[in-house]
Amino acid sequence: MFKKILIANRSEVAVRIIRACRELGIASVAVYSEADAQAPHVSLADEAVCLGPAEAAQSYLDQRKVLQAARDTGCDALHPGYGFLAENAGFARLVTEHGIHFIGPTPESMDRMGAKIPARETALLATAPVVPGFDRIGATDEEYIAAAAQIGYPVMVKASMGGGGKGMRIVTGEAELQSALDGARREAAKAFGDPTVFLEKYIENPRHIEIQILADRAGNTLHLGERECSVQRRHQKIVEETPSTAVDSELRARMGADAVAIARAVGYEGAGTVEFIMDPSGGYYFLEMNTRLQVEHPVTEFVYGIDIVQWQIRIATGETLPFTQEQLSPRGHSIECRICAEDAASGFLPQVGSVRVLREPQGPGVRLDSMLKPGLAIGADYDPMLAKLIVHAEDRAAAIRRMSQALNDMCLLGVTSNLGILAEIIAHPAFAAGETDTGFIARHFADYADPQPGLPEQLAAALAASLLGSRVQRGLEQTDAASPFHSYGNWSNA
Ligand code: ADP
Ligand code: ADP
Ligand code: MG
Repeated sequence: MFKKILIANRSEVAVRIIRACRELGIASVAVYSEADAQAPHVSLADEAVCLGPAEAAQSYLDQRKVLQAARDTGCDALHPGYGFLAENAGFARLVTEHGIHFIGPTPESMDRMGAKIPARETALLATAPVVPGFDRIGATDEEYIAAAAQIGYPVMVKASMGGGGKGMRIVTGEAELQSALDGARREAAKAFGDPTVFLEKYIENPRHIEIQILADRAGNTLHLGERECSVQRRHQKIVEETPSTAVDSELRARMGADAVAIARAVGYEGAGTVEFIMDPSGGYYFLEMNTRLQVEHPVTEFVYGIDIVQWQIRIATGETLPFTQEQLSPRGHSIECRICAEDAASGFLPQVGSVRVLREPQGPGVRLDSMLKPGLAIGADYDPMLAKLIVHAEDRAAAIRRMSQALNDMCLLGVTSNLGILAEIIAHPAFAAGETDTGFIARHFADYADPQPGLPEQLAAALAASLLGSRVQRGLEQTDAASPFHSYGNWSNA
């Protein structure tokens, strides 16, 4: 087993990985930027190293500094989390060359799956269905135009190196194609340092369904079922669940087998996710593979009773998976909501602030993976995701009720968050009916306006703080529908 792991990340995922290290008896080293000196992952780790200024390029993305921190503190392994350097094969090589184990797949499998064009080729070789498209590198614009006509509009222009929903354009007719190609190339060059784009058939009203993979070095490649992540804004997930209402055990077995075949084709090791897009008739197509831990991994952990982060570490030490595919079956239902500092009423724009009042939901089957603490400043330097609320219950209806309750119990004042819209999504009849394609938010929340305008934020924060304080003193800290405090759950996005 490793003795000490450097966690090359921040926020809730760093906290999550530190917890896994603790349970495995492994020491942890956090890294942080000057903007994150007060962040919870810094105090929670056994040691912490400041990397430098807030700007990611000078801290979390500075490969030399991260490597140096691992060497200076005597780490024998490094966990990249997600985002930042997690899918950077060059970084994995650099770390490995210095005798430090990179917890993840080999740099060779990252090379094959890191960009979307080679990943599509791999999926085709594994005989999995792939979104119809045109991805010949070096094609002329005339060839793209001809290919788009052949695929049939609407098409999508996508960046091969894309991630986080960036570098994507929907094109409804030939007149828009040239400017979409140019725009996507510019965005891709800026965001990913590579302007390569390709075309995909735009699947209308699709669901995003992905399969979790775990593979050990001995060649056991298993899947842990699906996650449905169709509720999205800006092509980015905000609500995820498992099982999907659109997947039965027969379909799960088929999609799982395709995902396993794709992972095997690159000799995959560790945890990874194969993403598919599903059309309304149930046909599904390979989208991409994420060669890392996924934000929404906790729903799978709940339903399969498996700690995915611990298994990432154990697989990296050479341990063999002790279960077979037949022994894995889902139990109950789990839903995750991503709590982000963003204003749902104004195009989900990221927000800044500081945590003035924080009340965290609790109870059976409730999990909060969070970077929040009272007083913490929320800046604009990094991803706006602050926390993830995850629930588990015996079936979907019970999980929905549990999530509604937990969202109402949560109170976050001092920074505008999406708690309000999350509560409305979970309470929506279309969500209850499982009608969750990727157009869900645009369809049902097009004219969303925050239902709690009014009270200035500072006043609300002060009021809530004094209420919370006096209730704690009197030992009355519980939800009580008749009390004025109850409505403060919904003040969370003030
Ligand atoms: P990223 O690397 O940014 O995650 P993905 O290829 O996984 O990119 O796509 C992200 C999201 O964009 C999908 O979940 C889906 O909502 C939308 N999307 C991507 N490709 C298509 C497509 N061909 N048709 C319809 N929607 C798509
Ligand atoms: P996908 O690549 O399909 O969008 P995920 O949604 O699981 O997959 O995760 C990637 C996203 O997580 C990134 O695009 C980014 O928005 C967010 N992210 C990356 N790093 C962090 C981080 N340290 N803390 C919080 N969120 C992050
Ligand atoms: Mg994706």
